[in-house]
Amino acid sequence: MNSARYTIASVAPTLCALMGVSSPNGSTTGAVRSVLSEAGRVFGGGSAEKFLLFAPDAMGCHLAGVRPDLFASVASVAPLRLSLRSVVPPKTPVCFASMFTGMDPLQHGIRKYEKPVLTCDTLFDALARNGKRVAVVTVRDCSIDAIFRGSPVDFFSEEYDPRVTDRALSLIADGKHDFVLAYHQEYDDVMHGSTPFSDEALNAAGNHVESFLRLCRAVDLHWAAFNRAVLFAPDHGAHTDAATGRGNHGDDIPEDMDVFHFWGFGKGVRR
Ligand SMILES: [Zn+2]
Repeated sequence: MNSARYTIASVAPTLCALMGVSSPNGSTTGAVRSVLSEAGRVFGGGSAEKFLLFAPDAMGCHLAGVRPDLFASVASVAPLRLSLRSVVPPKTPVCFASMFTGMDPLQHGIRKYEKPVLTCDTLFDALARNGKRVAVVTVRDCSIDAIFRGSPVDFFSEEYDPRVTDRALSLIADGKHDFVLAYHQEYDDVMHGSTPFSDEALNAAGNHVESFLRLCRAVDLHWAAFNRAVLFAPDHGAHTDAATGRGNHGDDIPEDMDVFHFWGFGKGVRR
């Protein structure tokens, strides 16, 4: 069963299908049917006109046993939960390259912790090519901020997570963009310095969920006229490294590889 599961590379083709555009050139993964059918049910046909993607670094399934309340909160606004596999090695730039190109690491070329500008076609290229206005809001110099610089989209590189949230909230309110990506990294930062289940790390995970809920409320308020979708999409999980006693990720083990993604849809009401 595990081998039949989709990987996080399915995000790009699924998202493109939802927004009515072709997948990135070279994308080898198919769209997730259950997502498309649920969107079709909510929208009554038609595409997603507005999209919020929230990417909290390292918030994998490993947290579900310890803090099921966190994922329950996420599901309260994005109820379609998918169980996905990350890609090998589950390191941040490798993962986001796959998530936003629809390619395996062998194809997009990032196969270790390195942050070159990708030269292959990406989700952001595919959206921009079809007239979609894309905003990528991240923490300055993080993986996403570096590897997608070749794409013709509006980049907002912020000091840290709270500024990312503020910026994304203002972009959602402005309504100029069709697709807003917001990336957060506090949980990953804190768990690397402690453990995946330290009080500080769990507090950071709670901050991510709280931010996602705020963003989703803004989506429903400001994008009410549009068919809209939200996605909570972590890149990988984490485990405690036996040698150092600290949190880490990068191994082909369930703690690092298993992630939940949560999708939510809202039907636009024109007044
Ligand atoms: Zn990561």
